[in-house]
Amino acid sequence: MFSLKLSIVIPIYNEEENIKDLYHRICKTIVQITDQYEIIFINDGSKDLSMQMISDLAESDSHVFFIDLSRNFGHQIAVTAGLEASKGEAVVIIDADLQDPPELIIELYAKLNEGFEVVYATRIKREGEGFFKKITAKLFYKLLSSITSFKIPVDTGDYRIISRKVVELLKIMPEQNKFLRGQIAWLGFNQTQIYFNRPERMHGKSGYSYSKMLNFAIDGITSITDIPLKLVTRLGLFISLFSFVVILYAIYSHFILHRTITGWTSLIISSAFIGGVQLFSLGIIGEYISRMNRNILKRPLYIVNKTNIGS
Ligand code: UDP
Ligand code: MG
Repeated sequence: MFSLKLSIVIPIYNEEENIKDLYHRICKTIVQITDQYEIIFINDGSKDLSMQMISDLAESDSHVFFIDLSRNFGHQIAVTAGLEASKGEAVVIIDADLQDPPELIIELYAKLNEGFEVVYATRIKREGEGFFKKITAKLFYKLLSSITSFKIPVDTGDYRIISRKVVELLKIMPEQNKFLRGQIAWLGFNQTQIYFNRPERMHGKSGYSYSKMLNFAIDGITSITDIPLKLVTRLGLFISLFSFVVILYAIYSHFILHRTITGWTSLIISSAFIGGVQLFSLGIIGEYISRMNRNILKRPLYIVNKTNIGS
């Protein structure tokens, strides 16, 4: 059914300095595997010359396709757009900034053919990333794997190869808040990994600001588990019990000890504490409600401005 052996899906957000290099390295690598391949660039609302470069490549090379999204929809959705358009029996998802060395595709492909549905490229070392990013990423992956019942590989980005079977299954998981790593891990099957040293970004700067990273982390957690909601419920219960004891004590000290004024400090502390917990809990509940809301709206995940696929 699928005539192509391999699709390469590349999300692009302001990558004008990397596209040429990336394209050449991918071509050099991929011809060692097959000549039945396609490279799909998804322009995710870049503000630089990326789109121009991609359509130039598409003009000169019939293996190259582009999808130009109508604005910046975010990395996960850009990748999703690429997956939905892909036609290969196997699909590689790779970042454009050359932090994911294209040469690894050979190894990924070989491993997939050993009978796996998903092969991750796991980074051993993160070079050129700040202390804060390393620490937060590490904590995030630790947290994720401790709260899920299925295995999410630690320290793995989206660089991976997946089989057609997995792509087709992802297509029928239409969540609005995409978290592909979680979804792919959730699918199960035989998944494995290979290791590599992650180099620095070649050019440009990370499209993931801290606020995007935070949103990404919240999407990740809320899309795969409702444990935070349960925690909040338990915390609420615990605090209610605790305040019940405090109330008893307050009554006791008022009627028996006649020492009500001295309780002021503890009163302030406990009301502030409870206020904080309530806000936090409301926030978590709000996250889930907003997810439900988005999913109820059933908007398309992305809007395509123009593409050369299917023409
Ligand atoms: N990217 C995207 N949309 C965005 C942000 C990033 O398509 O809103 C692309 C980007 O061009 C790159 C990949 O997603 O190909 C990974 O982004 P980045 O390198 O900025 O993330 P990091 O490696 O810092 O996590
Ligand atoms: Mg990067």
